[in-house]
Amino acid sequence: MNPSPTVAIPIPVSRPVLGDLELEYVTRALGEGAVSGFCGDYLARFEAEFAAFCGTAHGVAASSGTAALHLALLALSIGPGDEVLVSTLTNMATFFAVLYQRAIPIPIDVEEDTWNIDPALLERRVTPRTRAIVVVHLFGHPVDMDPVMEVARRHGLKVVEDCAQAHGALYKGRRVGSIGDVGCFSFYANKIITTGEGGMITTRNRRLADRARSLKNLAFGQPNKFMHTEVGFNYRMTNLQAALGCAQLQRIDALIEQKRQIARWYGEQLSELRNLKLPVEKSYAKNVYWMYHVELTGADAYRRDAVMRALADEGIETRQGFVPANLQRIFQREPWARASSCPKANRASGSSFYLPSGCSTSAADVQRVTTALRQILESR
Ligand SMILES: *Cc1c(COP(=O)(O)O)cnc(C)c1O
Repeated sequence: MNPSPTVAIPIPVSRPVLGDLELEYVTRALGEGAVSGFCGDYLARFEAEFAAFCGTAHGVAASSGTAALHLALLALSIGPGDEVLVSTLTNMATFFAVLYQRAIPIPIDVEEDTWNIDPALLERRVTPRTRAIVVVHLFGHPVDMDPVMEVARRHGLKVVEDCAQAHGALYKGRRVGSIGDVGCFSFYANKIITTGEGGMITTRNRRLADRARSLKNLAFGQPNKFMHTEVGFNYRMTNLQAALGCAQLQRIDALIEQKRQIARWYGEQLSELRNLKLPVEKSYAKNVYWMYHVELTGADAYRRDAVMRALADEGIETRQGFVPANLQRIFQREPWARASSCPKANRASGSSFYLPSGCSTSAADVQRVTTALRQILESR
């Protein structure tokens, strides 16, 4: 059945790229009956290969990116009353993980161009109770890590990298997830590679990895397994999910190259448009462009929702940018959350959205999206 020529085929924001290799690995795991993480060999292989990809000695798989973030804070012994400086513009999972530990997240505003945590704002927020910094490599662009690590070193703070949107991104030639104390990744369906649901922490610190490995598996004891060493969690990834992960990891370089190609196509088509701010790539960075986010500026800054609706009418799916922690309604009464404290994140949040940028987005899709966007922005 051919769609009528006047009805546009919808272009989704993102869809995972799955192929024969994924089918082969998952089928093999199933055929062996190796569904959990306690049998089969994909889980250990996925952990080792992903850690090697990131340039760290250890990888500990988890059931989600949120679980990985929580595990990282658990392994670092972040606890009640500890203050953690967190980039305010992120998926709220980053903040929730801190709150699971009854620690106090301190929202930090972002840089205007990358929308990543502004390292220049960190030092003035350090108090005697500050224990850690959680940075987020937002939309695939690495955080400027050197000044972050410098503040951490001066004040004895731990650094957690939320790499859920940035698998493979480079900061001065180093992979994200290998720079701070712990890196946290997500393999949710729309991330750079996917296991359906899943996550991983990466670290060069063997003791941290061991602690995380125990905590994610109910902290079973030894030699008596059922005499537990502490209160544990079930944050385990299954061997089936890891089979998918191993297959995805084999194609990660191509997926990243495709993301960069899509960003180039958008850049070529959109760079001339007035009132539209495009993603950047700083000289220290290799951006993996997880999602191609744009910001309406000037007289168009207040038209975001209308522009998104007009694109939807053309069958083009978009998503609005994240709502920063300091604007979340559920946090309004928290003493650490002041709506006005992060003006740059607030502005970006209200006027930004992201365009279709899954790896299956074609040059023709980008052409259609940019043509529609140009028409919408030029008509008012
Ligand atoms: C997706 C995401 C998470 C959460 O990962 P899940 O696998 O969905 O739990 C955390 N932080 C950021 C920045 C994310 O994009």
